[in-house]
Amino acid sequence: MNIFEEIESEVRSYCRTFPATFQKGKGCYLFDKEGNPYLDFFSGAGALNYGHNPPSMKARLLQYIEENGIAHSLDMATEAKGNFLEKFSETILKPRNMAYKVQFPGPTGTNAVESSLKLARKVTGREKILFFTQAFHGMTLGSLSISGNAFKRGGAGLPLTNTVCMPYCGYMDDMDTIGYIDRLLKCSGSGVDLPAAVIVETVQAEGGVNVASKEWLKKLQALCKKFGILFILDDIQAGCGRTGTFFSFDNMNISPDIICLSKSISGYGLPMALCLIKPELDIWEPGEHNGTFRGNNMAFVTATEALKYWESPAFSQEIFRKGLIVKEYLHNLMDSFPEKIKEIRGRGLIYGIVFRAEGHGSLLSSTCFENQLLAETSGADSDVIKLLPPLTINDEDLNKGLDILKESILITSGEVYA
Ligand SMILES: *Cc1c(COP(=O)(O)O)cnc(C)c1O
Repeated sequence: MNIFEEIESEVRSYCRTFPATFQKGKGCYLFDKEGNPYLDFFSGAGALNYGHNPPSMKARLLQYIEENGIAHSLDMATEAKGNFLEKFSETILKPRNMAYKVQFPGPTGTNAVESSLKLARKVTGREKILFFTQAFHGMTLGSLSISGNAFKRGGAGLPLTNTVCMPYCGYMDDMDTIGYIDRLLKCSGSGVDLPAAVIVETVQAEGGVNVASKEWLKKLQALCKKFGILFILDDIQAGCGRTGTFFSFDNMNISPDIICLSKSISGYGLPMALCLIKPELDIWEPGEHNGTFRGNNMAFVTATEALKYWESPAFSQEIFRKGLIVKEYLHNLMDSFPEKIKEIRGRGLIYGIVFRAEGHGSLLSSTCFENQLLAETSGADSDVIKLLPPLTINDEDLNKGLDILKESILITSGEVYA
């Protein structure tokens, strides 16, 4: 029995999927204690979009620590935070004509989500939040109340209230889901109260890599406008370049009232989260939402450096180019294994392979691991394999990972259909 099995809580999960003791990480590779390399198509669930220990961020961080740069500062003004805000404004907000205030909640994704729910309720004076089937927004009570997964919801141990769930884009074949929601909100007999906000992911990364269409998102935004509902976009996993552009909704003519970012915003895997708030909605009283770790200055330092990737369109073009390699490869796989693979979903550099057999994602994930590729499952029934290679991966490693995946599908073939 190892120390983890001996004293770490049973709640641990990724170590069961990827049973190795990791020691080092560089680029798209992780190394275990014995020095074995693992190709990482998991990328810290989207928190390592720029790979492990990206050199420019590492150099900045080491220099900052060496010079006794401040580490912790609550929400006091620091040079590191100021630098981040300036860079974020110049590189991300201004070129998009986006006027937003930046709120730093606690440093995790769920902190950003909780704070956006609180603000939406405060602004509108309404209680309900409308969320979608297969949604995932985090594990604290407010976020669980707007997440779809029954297993995770069950962990709450009390009723999850003041929310209403509606069908996501494509949930029921060609059902007009927006028309359905519109009808329910309009009708005084529907039993659906007018919500304070709608919260949505453009790609449901945890919920099975479900991709909402641009048209659907625009209709959803129009619906929110029509009823005076706030439009919250959770870009925690799909944002920071994962779908090819910095925001997953870039070029969609979408202007959310509140945007949640976390995961890869620090660029280095350091905890950091933020909410972008339309200025007129920023009615917080000073200190009304609080948190000890809102000033993770080391994250501000690496986040500022990470934004350099977004100074020119070249990085984005590269992501799309590599995304096409993945897309084409996976569609060829589906053609080779039509009896196993039901669908390929995704955009940018997030892709999901949907298997016909429930749980097959888990089996494949284990086989990939045995072949030294990390790939996570997704979806409530673990029927999807989710691929999140680092955005910075080179073509050789990208193809290598895809080849391991293909090999693993061949290996698992016998077991499932025996
Ligand atoms: C991961 C995730 C969260 C929660 O972030 P934590 O840092 O785990 O609290 C919220 N929303 C989405 C879309 C996520 O992928």
